This record gives sequence, C-alpha cells and structure tokens, in this order.
Amino acid sequence: MTTEVGGHGQAGPLILTDKEKLMSVRPLTPETYYRMPWNLADNAITWLEPTTKCNMFCEGCYRDKDSGRHRPLADVIAELENIKRLRKTDGISIAGGEPLLYPQIVDLVRYVASQGWKPIIITNGSLLTPEIIKELKNAGLVAFTVHVDSHQKRPGWPDKSEKELNELRLKIATMIHEAGECQIATAFNATIYRDTLQDIPLLTRFAQQHQDLIHTMVYILFRTAKRPAHLESYVGGQVVDLSALVYHLDYLQDYEDVTAQEVVDKMREVDPDFEPCAFLNSNEDPRVTKWLISTSVGEKDKVLGYLDGKFSEIIQSFHHLLYGTYMAYTRPCLLNKPHILFPLAIFSQGLRRVFGKWLFNPTLWGKRLYLQNFTIIQPVDILEDGRIGMCDGCPDAMFYQGRLIWKCRLDELLKFGRFIQCAPRS
Ligand code: SF4
Repeated sequence: MTTEVGGHGQAGPLILTDKEKLMSVRPLTPETYYRMPWNLADNAITWLEPTTKCNMFCEGCYRDKDSGRHRPLADVIAELENIKRLRKTDGISIAGGEPLLYPQIVDLVRYVASQGWKPIIITNGSLLTPEIIKELKNAGLVAFTVHVDSHQKRPGWPDKSEKELNELRLKIATMIHEAGECQIATAFNATIYRDTLQDIPLLTRFAQQHQDLIHTMVYILFRTAKRPAHLESYVGGQVVDLSALVYHLDYLQDYEDVTAQEVVDKMREVDPDFEPCAFLNSNEDPRVTKWLISTSVGEKDKVLGYLDGKFSEIIQSFHHLLYGTYMAYTRPCLLNKPHILFPLAIFSQGLRRVFGKWLFNPTLWGKRLYLQNFTIIQPVDILEDGRIGMCDGCPDAMFYQGRLIWKCRLDELLKFGRFIQCAPRS
C-alpha cells in the first residue's frame, strides 16, 4: 500500500510505501521542546461559559444537551472578578454552549477587553456573519476559534467528510479575514476520532495552504468516559456509574484512544520536517505531551521552516516581562509580520534556519510571511493503575464554586458533586 503526499519544498508528490512510512516514524522528544510555563495561578488563557445553550449537538461535546440557559451578564462579570483574584491570564476563552447565541455577547467581549484581557470566542461558526464579526472587532475581540469537524453533523453539512468541510472552513476564514479587517486571528479546531485520524494529512495540508487566513489549527483527540475493565470508578468511596456522564458514549466502549504521537506521524506524511517546539506534560507523566505545539514561518501556501523551543521560550518570557502574563493568542498584525522577529535568530536556531532561507532567496524579500501554529490536545487519559493523566497547567481551567477546575470534567461535579477517582477492583 502507498500514500501520496506533498511535503513543502518538494517538486511533486512523494509516494511512501508502508515500510517507508514505518521508518519515517520519529518518536516525540519532549526533552527537546520548551515546557510552557503555564500553571494554575499564571496562565495564557482561562475558560468562561456565559451560556450552555447551543444550536448543535456535536458527538464529542462535554456539556449536557438539555441544560441550555443563558447566565445573567452580572453573574458572568462576577465570575471574571473571581478569576482575576485567582489567576493571571492574558486571554479569556468565551465558550459555551454557543457563545454567539448569548444575547449580551458584544457587551461581554467589550467588558473583557476593558479589563486588559484578550477576548477569544470559541464557536461552532454557524452564526457568524460579517455584521457580528465587525461588531465584535469594534468591541475588542482578538480571535475566533471555530470548531468544525465531520462528527458534528452540522445543519446544511450533514455527512460531509473532513475534505468537503474544508470548503466551509475556507468560507469562514475568509469572512473573518475580510469583515475583521485583518485584526482578528482565526483558529480552527477539530475533534479527531480514530476514523478521522486518516484525515490529518489533508487537514494539515489545507491549513498550510492558507497561512494568510488560518493562524492556528487545533486537533483535540476525542475521549469518552471509559476505563480498563480491571478498574472501578468511585466518588467518596462509592462506586459510580459512568453512563450518567454526558461524555460517556455507550457504543464507544471499545474505542481505542488516538495519541499525539499518532497525529504527529500523520502530519509528517504531509511534511516530514514537521517538528513541535513546545508542550504541556501530563500531571502523571512528564514525557506524555498533553498540549503539543508547533510554530512555523511560511509564505501564504508553503512552510519555510519550524521554530524551536528557544523561540517559544523567548516569546513567553518577553511577554511576561512586558505585560505580566504568558501568551497564547495574538492579533494577525504580529502573526503576519514574522520578519520583525528575525533579530531573535541570535538565540533561536529554528529562526536562524528560516532567516537563512529568506536571506539567500531574494524572491522572498518582497513577499509577506506568516506565523502559523498547530496544537494537538490529548485530554484525559486513565492509566492502568487508575491514575488520571490531566494537562499539567491546564490552560482551559474554569471558575466553579470558588475554585479553578478542568473544564473538560465539569460534568462529574454536576452529576456527582466531586471528581471521579479510579482504582483496581478489590
Ligand atoms: S485538563 Fe482538560 S480542560 Fe484542561 S486543557 Fe486539558 S483537556 Fe482541556
């Protein structure tokens, strides 16, 4: 069996045999990446849910489909005050539910911006129009993260493949670019299932062909509430039934979790040079990459090179020095001008390589270059001995009953009052 791929810098398609594909697998080397300094008290982003109403019913969603309600704006602002007390943060991810259904979304974005935070909207994109994008831009919005994937069964796009959905992604990215007048960054995220792992090459290639429009691509690896058969689930010493959880899908109990390594292997089928530069580890294993991040510099449709951990370290350190916070999102005005970062090539070998390519290729001098990120998120892993591997320094923590919690496990608190623990059956 062979696979046809087109890596950057290659004249034409490259055919890899199964044997070559196996030989091309390079294990992740977190010891060479920069460990993001994000932690519970000082993080790049924080999660906020002003509403639980939604107009879609995505398979991988972690919120109850029947509990939809909008919260009063005053409550949401009070929550932001609590977040300010507990955690330094650069951005606020306004999510839900579908935040564009929230009646005071523009006021909320304006309030977040007025506090010196970057407002980011996490949306399914179905309600985006040029008018609302303009209004949100004027209120101070910095970025949209738009969730599109083939398991959503999107109205108007049911049963479409990831490849067919690229048409929708392009339409949304173009609308944000034009109506946002290049001041709003665009990220796409897609939940990746075992059956869509094969689509990683075409999604990666699509994003790399539109670096002028797509600033970040996020792959979230699907997880369902399940545990190895020899483990039991407990809350307060009592056995609990996982099927009560919204993220328990009965028909997926034999599902084999996709790992970040598998996604990277697939990305390297498109681009053998693909290399991450930063990560967040599991709280249970320093070598398991829960957030795996790459940053590249490229022309509109061609990657010039991938940056290294030193680059991420400089950006995070300088941002913290200048603004007192770590950074995850920024406006396209910086992402579309990586030239201004070239002096940092003194410290960063990755940037030096890109700078060298640019310097010795005069056809690039007049061209616009772009920074682009890929992030692979590998959520909850239940380990053989019952420990639960979470993202160490969770950037998507949310405020709930006086503390910051993992937003991906809120349903356990709602259903059982506490987080579930697993242990071998006695
Ligand atoms: S711990 Fe859960 S909520 Fe936090 S970043 Fe990881 S997957 Fe997201």
